[in-house]
Amino acid sequence: MKEGWEAVIGLEVHAQLNTDSKIFCTCSTKFGQEPNSNTCPVCLGLPGALPVLNREAVKSAGKAALALNLKISNQSIFARKNYFYPDLPKGYQISQYDRPFSEHGTVEIMSSERDEGGRALEWRAKRFGITRAHIEEDAGKSVHDIGDPSKSYVNLNRAGTPLLEIVSEPDFRSSWEAYDYVNFLRRTLQYIGVCDGNMEEGNLRCDANVSVRPVGQEKLGVKAEIKNLNSLRFLQKAIEYEIDRQITVLETGGKIVQETRLWNEKEGKTVAMRSKEDAHDYRYFPEPDLPPLEVSDAWVESLRAKLPELPEARRQRFMREYELNADEAFTLTSQRELADYFETATKTSNHTRAAANWTLSELLRELKNADTDITACRIKAEDLGAMIRLIDDQTISGKIAKDVFVEMFATGRSPAEIVKEKGLVQITDTSAIEKIVDEVIAANPNQLKQYRDGKTALMGFFVGQVIKASGGKANPQAVNEILKKKLDG
Ligand SMILES: [Zn+2]
Repeated sequence: MKEGWEAVIGLEVHAQLNTDSKIFCTCSTKFGQEPNSNTCPVCLGLPGALPVLNREAVKSAGKAALALNLKISNQSIFARKNYFYPDLPKGYQISQYDRPFSEHGTVEIMSSERDEGGRALEWRAKRFGITRAHIEEDAGKSVHDIGDPSKSYVNLNRAGTPLLEIVSEPDFRSSWEAYDYVNFLRRTLQYIGVCDGNMEEGNLRCDANVSVRPVGQEKLGVKAEIKNLNSLRFLQKAIEYEIDRQITVLETGGKIVQETRLWNEKEGKTVAMRSKEDAHDYRYFPEPDLPPLEVSDAWVESLRAKLPELPEARRQRFMREYELNADEAFTLTSQRELADYFETATKTSNHTRAAANWTLSELLRELKNADTDITACRIKAEDLGAMIRLIDDQTISGKIAKDVFVEMFATGRSPAEIVKEKGLVQITDTSAIEKIVDEVIAANPNQLKQYRDGKTALMGFFVGQVIKASGGKANPQAVNEILKKKLDG
């Protein structure tokens, strides 16, 4: 950001709650069905149809609110938000207004600016406020015929899907803070299993309010709202672009107009969609067809008791407890099952560093190559731990372990079984190693002479030759000791 300026960013995130049925009727929420097949009089907005609240949706919203440290209200009120849109058949959306489901949250997350290559510069714990999270229904989808602009279609399968709208305080000062926050939301909601968090498929959507002001100025600048940011990368780029655009406008004597903008990925810029002057007046009023939503403290506490350790807390614990760096801890906690896997491998091997290295490099690489994830991994975490123990007690060398690992990954067999069957046990018997060392020295008289003339870097060459001659099975430490004695002697 240009010196002398400060950005102020607030974020609104819509998370689709992944219940089986819609929020006010029993229609399925299954994605990709025949258009308008998952509909009924309630979600079609037919006269006389009455909404009935889905208990599971409230439970999911409750878990999410607690995971985001929000305070859940004992009583919240559904409200009609009136506006006309072809994909909103009732002419209003059932949402919440002045009495939302939950309010007043603060989250502490790790955040960092990035360099040009996208690498984190310095992770720091930061606190951001969440104003509220309320429950509402999704609208349907208008589909425009590209071939024939006179035609538009509407698909109401999505109408009535439960949403949680999460509104932040304007606490973000850079595009990367916004990126880290939305990424945190996505991971957290996935972790507790209430939202699939797939931004490309639209089950997590984000709008960003962006304004700038000179450093030191208290008064907020005029903001622009960037709508429908459907990937984390677009979110970051759109905010970055918008900050620069606003600063340039102000520095050249122009004025920022309050408006809604869209991110155009192809051109790499935000473009004006509509000004706020023709913004809708939603004329909110309480929804007469639904009673107030009442939840007891006991219900809230029973939900809280069932929450797992959340990814951000777990990341910070991994850094503390296992001395992992922020990036390693971030990757290992990206999926609940992966974090569990690493912890089990650590416990069984009693060697944290090795468990982290094997999981982060070999294991994740093989999973990626196989286009699968940890839930389908054939190597049991206990077996990875057992393999690390075999290295540590010098039964196998690190080099052999890589082959054993590949075999384990393909077959799911235990390391002990593979090592035994293939005769991969490391040679630690010094007389056997001495014999190989003698042969290697005898076969390389030139290198021996150079070594004795002072070119001691050739040590590495001899070690390599001996290990190779042993089929990778000679214990490297023993090889080093014996070689040194013989070469120097
Ligand atoms: Zn329905």
